Amino acid sequence: MTLLEMKNIGKAFGDNEVLKDISMTVSQGQVVGIIGPSGSGKSTLLRCATMLETVDTGSIYYKGEPMVVNDTNGKAVYANSSQLKKIRSYFGLVFQNFNLFPHFTVLRNITEAPINVGKQTREQANEIAMHLLQQMGLADKADTYPYQLSGGQQQRVSIARALAQNPDILFFDEPTSALDPELTGEILAVIRELASKHMTMVIVTHEMSFARDVADYILFMDKGVVVEQGNAVDLVNNPQHERTKLFLKRFD
Ligand code: ADP
Ligand code: MG
Repeated sequence: MTLLEMKNIGKAFGDNEVLKDISMTVSQGQVVGIIGPSGSGKSTLLRCATMLETVDTGSIYYKGEPMVVNDTNGKAVYANSSQLKKIRSYFGLVFQNFNLFPHFTVLRNITEAPINVGKQTREQANEIAMHLLQQMGLADKADTYPYQLSGGQQQRVSIARALAQNPDILFFDEPTSALDPELTGEILAVIRELASKHMTMVIVTHEMSFARDVADYILFMDKGVVVEQGNAVDLVNNPQHERTKLFLKRFD
């Protein structure tokens, strides 16, 4: 089943065209990797997909329901805010810099949204959060504050926080880029584990062998366009376009 479908997306900041006619489909249980040089528009694409950013043109459907459609002038028109709010709740996000609330404990970082947005009771939310912390190997850290944790531990808390909302799709924007190499592995292991449980994920990453192994499908972006896309193993091991070859050479 197709969960998210983005068609012919265009987005500019002033006269900087950041996304040019981008299309992307995410099916249930699929892991989609997005790779490409810095500044190619990967974060903007994720932000548009999750509606943290608006598109200028194109359409976005969630489970076939229109979130964004083009009017007759080709301008993107968004669904009403209650519909968007509902759809947004189906998405979980994990950022490069963890984005935890510094003045909340680990537990409260995870339970805040389920209690306030998801309308869970504190008891329910605590129970789910503790279960997730256990899964992340952080059960003993529930009452600590983010600054007391390593970057890898903070990122695992932020993954637990995203999972606590029981998202349909989990989006990762360079989840290991702020981590030392020895901490990168523990986060990649968590994501691999989620993939083995068929979590639907969209992952922007610079970890090429990880992308090849964990993703089903990869988009290679450069300068706001999708240069090449396809089966993850084929794209990484046997790229067809010169720009893709040149980019992947850097990771040999
Ligand atoms: P990537 O994630 O691939 O490094 P980004 O999506 O962050 O690329 O950025 C793509 C382009 O969009 C860059 O030229 C960047 O400077 C520009 N850009 C991103 N966000 C903004 C913004 N909020 N305002 C203006 N320009 C932006
Ligand atoms: Mg980025």
